[in-house]
Amino acid sequence: MKAIYKPQGRAAEYAPLAVNLYTGCGHGCTYCWAPQVLRMEPAKFFGAPKPRADILVQLERDAQRLQGSPHPVLLCFACDPYQPCEDRHRLTRSALEVLLEHGLAVSILSKGGLRAARDLDLLAASPQPHAFGASLTALSPELSSQWEPLAAPPAERLAALRQAFELGLSTWASLEPVLDPEETLAIIEASHSFVRHFKLGKLNYHAKAKEIDWRAYRRRVKGLLLDLGFWPNERQGDFTPGSYFIKHDLGRWVWSGMS
Ligand code: SF4
Repeated sequence: MKAIYKPQGRAAEYAPLAVNLYTGCGHGCTYCWAPQVLRMEPAKFFGAPKPRADILVQLERDAQRLQGSPHPVLLCFACDPYQPCEDRHRLTRSALEVLLEHGLAVSILSKGGLRAARDLDLLAASPQPHAFGASLTALSPELSSQWEPLAAPPAERLAALRQAFELGLSTWASLEPVLDPEETLAIIEASHSFVRHFKLGKLNYHAKAKEIDWRAYRRRVKGLLLDLGFWPNERQGDFTPGSYFIKHDLGRWVWSGMS
């Protein structure tokens, strides 16, 4: 089985290559789609995450095969590389060492907050163009804890992004799912000086999604980013600083005329 794979569907809009280090995730986000996709019992997925069997051996083999690839490897889609059990396993740093030894660039995506910042030294010392990202759904810790009860609070995620920026890494934020458009706009206002690329999506597969005017949201978020000097970047899996990317599901609501 491959460790590094080519994401399909919506995930492909984020990265051409990815690896999932853990089976399961202890962040317990209420909107998490991973148990369904992986066909796992939610109780097992959220309650007993563990390192994937032989993941470092598989990763070494795949990294050798992909040596010199220009595409960054995203960690992770179907788990968080800096979820709470990473304190015990210290798997992510080992995985980063394997990827970096083979000259591969990485892009981190985490809600782990400052836990996610502890390997930034490794990325900052490496010549490849690495990117460090966080998922941000709210600025309000109360709203975040309702939906992401065991993830780091938003302020910690922002602090990790600021550290990455100060170390010279490309920084980015995944602004989905959108729980409240006002919160998402506030995140951009609060972070645009040190978060240099934004990926924009919406809320899917949830009754609350029908309550939001997505066309109005798209217009406002795009206007804000243009006012702040960001430019629209249509390249999938690209993290160029100073740009933003609108995912197909958010764009579709405008082009199809639905609201
Ligand atoms: S951090 Fe990601 S993988 Fe983990 S529970 Fe939340 S949505 Fe699922």
